[in-house]
Amino acid sequence: MRYAIISDVHSNLEALNAVLAEIDSLAPDVIVCLGDIVGYNSNPNECIAILRGRAIPSVMGNHDDRAAGLDEPDDFNPLAEKALLWTREQLTPENKAYIEALPRSAIIDNAFLAMHGWVNDTDSYLNGTDDAAVNFSLMHELSVGINIAFFGHTHVPVVYVECGETVFAIHEDTVELEKGCSYLINPGSVGQPRNHDPHASFVIYDTEAGVITFHKVDYDIAATALKILEAGLPERLAERLRFGV
Ligand code: ZN
Repeated sequence: MRYAIISDVHSNLEALNAVLAEIDSLAPDVIVCLGDIVGYNSNPNECIAILRGRAIPSVMGNHDDRAAGLDEPDDFNPLAEKALLWTREQLTPENKAYIEALPRSAIIDNAFLAMHGWVNDTDSYLNGTDDAAVNFSLMHELSVGINIAFFGHTHVPVVYVECGETVFAIHEDTVELEKGCSYLINPGSVGQPRNHDPHASFVIYDTEAGVITFHKVDYDIAATALKILEAGLPERLAERLRFGV
């Protein structure tokens, strides 16, 4: 099986369309989303409609949780909070119900775990090898035989590896998986990259070859930025897209 894994779309329609066009050209078997479909950018309903229309399974992100009203955004920074409150006003009742019903995590085809933040928490950031070590333990407790998880939330592409007692990070575009090791993989963000590279990002996981490949996609950042301003969302949310921060 070949899976395309996307994350943190954040209502960026231009980036989502560009990523899906690239994914379609690669013809994977299944597309999976790691949450934060909405927040920050200006097309929440359109992005949800695309995921629903293509029946792309998704887990819930922290912005989806707040947009659905399951929690308040009072722990968000002011820019994220402003965009979140705007998003709530935009969502159709149907789309709100859709994100409200997203699972916190999902085991896909008994092949890998999909989650947003940590194995056991939507809101925690998985940053660095110490966090990775804790999440490897949680993953092993969760399900026997699952040794690969994909996560989002940080908007930074990375692969963490656990081989025996050692946990380390890999930052390469192609990663060959070794038998007996475990992996935590962040595909980066579709709609708001923060790795100082403004390209939209996703991964392909080829289970037969045992290979992860990272893909970078150009999209019309100027169009997304203009729509953010036209929607009355904070200017900084438009600017940051040009720099990938
Ligand atoms: Zn996010």
